[in-house]
Amino acid sequence: MMERIRMSSPEIDESDVQAVVEVLRSGTLSLGTKIVAFEDAICQYLGVRHAVAVSSGTAALHLIVRSLGLGAGDEVLLPSFSFAASANVLLYERAKPVFCDIDRRTFNLDPASVERKITPRTKAILAVDVFGHPVDWDGLGEIATSHNLLLIDDSCEAFGAEYRGRKVGQFASAAAFSFYPNKPITTGEGGVIVTNDSEIARLTRCLRNQGRSEMGSWLQHERLGFNYRMNEMSAVLGLSQLQRIGSFLEARKRVAELYAERLRSVPWVQSPWVAEHVGMSWFVYVITLDEGIDRTAVVAALQERQIPVRCYFSPLHLQSYISRYTDCRAGDLPVTESVAERTLALPFHNRLSKAEVDEVVDALEDAVSRIYSKPRNHMVPNA
Ligand SMILES: *Cc1c(COP(=O)(O)O)cnc(C)c1O
Repeated sequence: MMERIRMSSPEIDESDVQAVVEVLRSGTLSLGTKIVAFEDAICQYLGVRHAVAVSSGTAALHLIVRSLGLGAGDEVLLPSFSFAASANVLLYERAKPVFCDIDRRTFNLDPASVERKITPRTKAILAVDVFGHPVDWDGLGEIATSHNLLLIDDSCEAFGAEYRGRKVGQFASAAAFSFYPNKPITTGEGGVIVTNDSEIARLTRCLRNQGRSEMGSWLQHERLGFNYRMNEMSAVLGLSQLQRIGSFLEARKRVAELYAERLRSVPWVQSPWVAEHVGMSWFVYVITLDEGIDRTAVVAALQERQIPVRCYFSPLHLQSYISRYTDCRAGDLPVTESVAERTLALPFHNRLSKAEVDEVVDALEDAVSRIYSKPRNHMVPNA
């Protein structure tokens, strides 16, 4: 029987397995040489001065927020169209998330909406390179400079992406990347903080290791810290994966092109839009259904054929636990809300074959034609 199509899948080869096994045999499972080597390799690849590897992308973001001193009374501007961690790290520190609307093509922060939400309490912009498409760094950089705001980059979905020929990760005070298994490279669980600011690097290194200073002894703590360390098995896996990043990004781009080619002739679907001056790091493949297409019915029909899809994202300002922390309500972010009702992430990973892409798109076309072939409702919307 053919293997079911998978939503996402890491690419693990024999060299990854060997590298991890070697670490296991060495007996040094934490605080060894592999984390240092992984951090050096990341600095080289991204063209940044400092990398601090941690236990997750969320931990990376949290330590950035903490090291910048954001806290009670501080407002931070961010998109609602993101993963919950983007807002949670602000709530951990009692900073206030202020949700902004997005650009309807890139799904990234709309600088005009950001500017409208600035108040005297605004301290920072937390931008998210959604789905691996870099945000408008020129636009946001200008706003940050002219209003004296900090810039944080949640680049958890965009490892390897480029903006005007430079790798994402160097456009903010600090950036966070994630190495969860569905991200472009994986360490199982893991993340990294990258920055050109040596003070942020020093502080986040201290905070990830229970507040110990680099020089002090094991039981000397200089501040309240966390255990957010990355272990040696994860670090060596990341190091091994990073050597193949070029082929990973190429493979993902190829799958995106296969989808785009097939979807070009499907009138009620919009493929992802890519700005001219950016290099995507394809994280997921998210299509937008035309208004009037019943997404719930489409998802159910696809699931019936064992084709996994996800409704990416569910806006943060509409999630019940967040409503206590924000005044933003349904109707306040019209682009976010309209986009979020119509987007659908299709199965996407390095090794998705042309036959699998065809199967997904065939099933999608079949689902929509069946839904709209019912009596008195035979028209496909906007066809
Ligand atoms: C994956 C992700 C994170 C969190 O990364 P973890 O490693 O899962 O903690 C944060 N922000 C965004 C936008 C993400 O996609």
